[in-house]
Amino acid sequence: MGSYSLDFLSRPFSLVYRQNAVNHCPGCTHTNWMIGRMVAECAFCGTVLPLRDSALLASGHRRGPPPIAAAA
Ligand SMILES: [Zn+2]
Repeated sequence: MGSYSLDFLSRPFSLVYRQNAVNHCPGCTHTNWMIGRMVAECAFCGTVLPLRDSALLASGHRRGPPPIAAAA
């Protein structure tokens, strides 16, 4: 039975917005983006790409230390 989770990193080619890099829109090739917390939206054509870090979180891959457990 297949998984329906979003595993962006295991795909050979995935479209994600990479911070600290020039990102060309796959829809119009412009490089002007409106950056949100989870996605980046092209300012020209409205194409939406997930942020690379949010893709890591969605696929279960985390960077950095594990979350701190809440004190009881
Ligand atoms: Zn675009």
